[in-house]
Amino acid sequence: MIETDVLIIGSGIGGLSTAIKIAEARPDLSITVLTKTIEGESNTRYAQGGVAAVWDAEVDSYTKHKEDTLDAGDGLCDEKLSTSWCPKAPTGCVTSSIGVRGSTRKRHD
Ligand SMILES: Cc1cc2nc3c(=O)[nH]c(=O)nc-3n(C[C@H](O)[C@H](O)[C@H](O)COP(=O)(O)OP(=O)(O)OC[C@H]3O[C@@H](n4cnc5c(N)ncnc54)[C@H](O)[C@@H]3O)c2cc1C
Repeated sequence: MIETDVLIIGSGIGGLSTAIKIAEARPDLSITVLTKTIEGESNTRYAQGGVAAVWDAEVDSYTKHKEDTLDAGDGLCDEKLSTSWCPKAPTGCVTSSIGVRGSTRKRHD
């Protein structure tokens, strides 16, 4: 039987960034990441690398971001969550702080 201090289920960006944060804060803990197929198989693997957020509120809008999110989600998004999250997106992006390379190209179309 495997014994561990922390068990993380899922090896996408959510699980792996959590593992990194815990390892940095508590190097004394053992951390195990469990995933259902091969370790690289996740939605994270297929992401193109763009991060949608309103970077300049003078030329973009949180309403447009929410509408785009709901449209891209094709009925699967929680509208209440999308409404509250979109204004927080510029400060909530964690990818660069954990070393994930993403696109920095700005688009306003
Ligand atoms: C084609 C595509 C393009 C995308 N492009 C972008 C983009 O450009 N920009 C962007 O911001 N986002 C994009 N996304 C969305 C982004 O990939 C996801 O929001 C993000 O990767 C989710 O990360 P996660 O760690 O929450 O989940 P995931 O990456 O899906 O990881 C979930 C993990 O949990 C594991 N798991 C699931 N069920 C179980 C179980 N029962 N037992 C054990 N393990 C389990 C999976 O195997 C996987 O390892 C895209 C998604 C896709 C599919």
